[in-house]
Amino acid sequence: MSEYGCKVCRVLDEYGMERYEEQLLEQWQADPPQRKGYRQLAEWFNTLMLRREMDRAGLSTLGGEAESKYERLRGDGTLAEEVATGLSNAGVPIAQLRDDFVSYGVVRTHLTECLGAEVDLQSGDWERDALGIARDHAATKAEEAVRSLRNKEQLSAGGEVDVSVTVELECESCHTRVPVDRAVRREYVCHCDD
Ligand SMILES: [Zn+2]
Ligand SMILES: [Zn+2]
Repeated sequence: MSEYGCKVCRVLDEYGMERYEEQLLEQWQADPPQRKGYRQLAEWFNTLMLRREMDRAGLSTLGGEAESKYERLRGDGTLAEEVATGLSNAGVPIAQLRDDFVSYGVVRTHLTECLGAEVDLQSGDWERDALGIARDHAATKAEEAVRSLRNKEQLSAGGEVDVSVTVELECESCHTRVPVDRAVRREYVCHCDD
């Protein structure tokens, strides 16, 4: 692996996925709100790896099948193992894939160090990036905690559980609460001092 700059470099090469590098870069450098953070890029990339292997094994990947399988695989409970076993029985090299899935940290390394790329930040855009990163971190931590609680059977649900994080701003005077994305987009929280 030392001949490669990073794990993403190795996976692109070994999985014959070089042509997706450009899409990775484009999604990272897109203008907000299309811009994807490292965590979203890692999910996109890993799902793509899974979808290609499912296609190769002759499994259906229509209707978000790869996305939902990937979501379930990311858990570490019995559900994840059931999905992994099913994929393995169908001929998907799932153990290898799980080893090769990339983390958001390595996506960042690849984009910024291997490619030496930068996000074209117009003035003020680092703040939007920072908000995205904060949300990614919060969601990752919350997902880990929820997964653990479910494994311990201290939290139950009929199906898969999605964690979403919304950062809200509140004006201390009028108590208007607004999701930060909306506030930033429209450039105000409230007008109570008008
Ligand atoms: Zn790399
Ligand atoms: Zn106010």
